[in-house]
Amino acid sequence: MNHLLEAVCLICVSELIMFFYLRCRISPDMDAGHYFIKYLLFPTVCNLSVTAAGYVLIRSGRIDGRCKNVIPLYCIAAVGFVLVNVHSRFAITAAAFVVPVLISAVYGNVQMTGRITAVCLALAGISLILPLYDPEVYRADDRMNKLLSVLFILGAHVFARAMLSYMDRKNEELSRSKAEGYQLKENLKRDAMTGLFNHVEFYRYLEEQIESGRTEIHVAVIDIDDFKKVNDTYGHEKGNHVLTGLSGILTRECGHNAHVSRYGGEEFTVIFVDRTTDEVYDTMEIVRKMLENLTLPDVPAFVSISIGIASFRSGMTARQLFEKADRAMYCAKRSGKNQTQTL
Ligand code: GH3
Ligand code: MG
Ligand code: MG
Repeated sequence: MNHLLEAVCLICVSELIMFFYLRCRISPDMDAGHYFIKYLLFPTVCNLSVTAAGYVLIRSGRIDGRCKNVIPLYCIAAVGFVLVNVHSRFAITAAAFVVPVLISAVYGNVQMTGRITAVCLALAGISLILPLYDPEVYRADDRMNKLLSVLFILGAHVFARAMLSYMDRKNEELSRSKAEGYQLKENLKRDAMTGLFNHVEFYRYLEEQIESGRTEIHVAVIDIDDFKKVNDTYGHEKGNHVLTGLSGILTRECGHNAHVSRYGGEEFTVIFVDRTTDEVYDTMEIVRKMLENLTLPDVPAFVSISIGIASFRSGMTARQLFEKADRAMYCAKRSGKNQTQTL
């Protein structure tokens, strides 16, 4: 609305300049008082009243957010109406209605642009049919100017629609590249084969949990027993099926707030927060037994895992907590594999 007030002042100043120009160059004996009232005072009062009404409506608090955006556009259309009717002798005024139609495109709302165009067309139509302001100067070229304003509105509408569809396409591209960026960021955290988090993300998450001041943190390290033999006997691809089978079991059984990663090769880690050591032990035992019972096509031998669990102690780093769990896992290996050890 502040810009509208500036525009109204500018129109007033233009008329003042025009007045001096006409008096000095065209008709020195013109009736200054008559000109002042008709072409300066009256339109300026009209324009200021429209602007003030717009201000009051917006500030009244009775208008919702969406309508608040439209009010300035209707005010600009009303100022355009005054301009077209009072100053129709100047061909440039025929373009006055173009402004609200083009500005409406900024809001990215086709319906709003349609409504503003309709209002401008109605106002231009009234100006064209009725010699509203100055019947004695309502000559053929005035009518031509007003007819031109109708054509300009239609042209502006076409431009506004083109701008809207361009903005739509840009917005679509933007949200697509945002989604792709998000996907790319997610992919960087994950292991391509199993879809689990990778070991970089394992440390990032673990450090985040330690820094947050949590004390109930457990890390489980899981290593497939004699996996080399599985590969050697059934082939690398079948070995991959065992890895994805184990990933599925870990994701399903560890619960939604467990952070499951493929640490590397045939070694996995799980970070548990807010669980007791007994709860973590029970969960990992379920996983171990489920893998024992997992039947994979073309892999007749049962596959087992050794698991080490470490609980966090105050002052430990993420690396130290992992190494503790790794030591527990090697304890399980040394004690005969296919079992869970805690430290
Ligand atoms: P241990 O019980 O002591 O853990 O014996 P292991 O044979 O499991 O351990 P070792 O470290 O000797 O061998 C690990 C094997 O895991 C060797 C490697 O080929 C295999 N491996 C690592 N990553 C992959 C993978 O992505 N796919 C397949 N199929 N095998 C893998
Ligand atoms: Mg192994
Ligand atoms: Mg290993």
